[in-house]
Amino acid sequence: MKLILLGPPGAGKGTIAKALMELDGSVQISTGDILRAAVAAGTELGKQAEAAMKAGDLVTDELIMGIMEQRLQQEDCQQGYLLDGFPRTIPQAQALKALLEKLGEKLNCALELDIPRDVIIDRLTTRRTCTNCGAIYNVKFKPPKVEGLCDNCGGEIVQRDDETEEAIENRLEVYNEQTAPLVEFYRNEGLLVTVPTSELEAVMAAIEDRL
Ligand code: AMP
Repeated sequence: MKLILLGPPGAGKGTIAKALMELDGSVQISTGDILRAAVAAGTELGKQAEAAMKAGDLVTDELIMGIMEQRLQQEDCQQGYLLDGFPRTIPQAQALKALLEKLGEKLNCALELDIPRDVIIDRLTTRRTCTNCGAIYNVKFKPPKVEGLCDNCGGEIVQRDDETEEAIENRLEVYNEQTAPLVEFYRNEGLLVTVPTSELEAVMAAIEDRL
């Protein structure tokens, strides 16, 4: 399937994408993960993205489209893809539309996870991420078996730089200003599916309904 996952940071897009991947071999493409890997590796891309990411601001549309134009043409996208954290602005959504037209591809839907703000803030401040494989934990609901270490790969589990209270407030503001308008954009495209939860079964039912 070819899907966009829409929703504020902490809505559960990554977790849903990972579960959907198991279903039909679609790949999760997280622009946030790609950028974090570039920062960790100290590449030119990473250097360009680092300051904006740390503050919870968006990196430029040009940088993101440069990444995605290449990524969407890689072999593993043939089976389908789950776009997690992209597009995040109207210009990105327009550029994606043009790119997919050029590639002769169609999206199945844009799935919006519509989650209340207090739930989001609680989730983000208690979230921890594996620095090695990106697995997500939660100090309250899903702690790792051994404190500080990833169950999957033994990597170090940390609180992300952009998951401090201040950066989270900023990320939510950025979401409301720059990304929330995409809901209307995809409604007009006839692609929007909204679910008021990130509970896997309900999300799956909504997707099956649509497909
Ligand atoms: P995420 O893990 O999706 O929350 O992304 C982490 C950070 O990476 C964001 O706060 C942005 O700084 C940057 N980022 C990720 N995806 C995008 C995008 N599509 N457009 C602009 N910035 C992005």
